Amino acid sequence: MRLLAALLTIVATATPAAAKAKAKPAANPKAKLPKRSAQSCLDALDALKVPWKPGEAKVGVDIPVEIDAPIGGITFKTWKKGKGLYVDCSLAYSLARSAKFFADEGVTTLFYSGTYERRNVRGTDHPSKHSYALAIDVHEFESDAFHYTVADDYEQGLGDEVDCIGSPLTAGGKTLRTIFCRLQRSELYKHILTPDYDADHWNHFHIEARPWSERTDLGDALSAQAAKTVQRGATTATGDSAAKARSAKPRSTQGSPKR
Ligand SMILES: [Zn+2]
Repeated sequence: MRLLAALLTIVATATPAAAKAKAKPAANPKAKLPKRSAQSCLDALDALKVPWKPGEAKVGVDIPVEIDAPIGGITFKTWKKGKGLYVDCSLAYSLARSAKFFADEGVTTLFYSGTYERRNVRGTDHPSKHSYALAIDVHEFESDAFHYTVADDYEQGLGDEVDCIGSPLTAGGKTLRTIFCRLQRSELYKHILTPDYDADHWNHFHIEARPWSERTDLGDALSAQAAKTVQRGATTATGDSAAKARSAKPRSTQGSPKR
């Protein structure tokens, strides 16, 4: 009888625990987040008073916008004729938020070579972020008093992890390095590549934003959720980008989507 009572006690205490385990499955780190809407990016541009208009729909570009007036007091000029700044909204948002970094150095105008171009990163088979209009190549920085070029004025090898700016020898070197450090530390961008990165970037800054739907710097609930996922899935980042590159390939061979 005592044995039966003991068995019954074990069964009675074990059952709720088992039921609890069934009712609460382990969190799936690969669970997909709800996608942040394109409209929320356009609303963010409005809030920052960015003079945008809808950009032409092009293959690879999620939220195309065109801007042909200064952003935060900074004019964007290109050597290509008759075009406004054509970028994904996510990059436009970052440029608007970081316009102050240029303005604080006295810069009024940036000269860039390109934003959108369907191509792979040189020497690889994965698409450059220019294929999504998420990157801009900036070559020259102008104010009323100076006209600095990355080719002539950027001083390589400056700074370290503690002191990003280091000890530039020239005023141009200091200006360009200060702008780089502020862009780099802002978390508004995925990459800022300079002549320090490789020989392909000898004459420009490659300034690249994350897709709007993947951003974790926006201070909203979705960003907080995404940041947790990024932490949990940190080791799978390479696999994710490889998967993205694979999934992007068929689009370029099938031509433009119908819209
Ligand atoms: Zn680039």
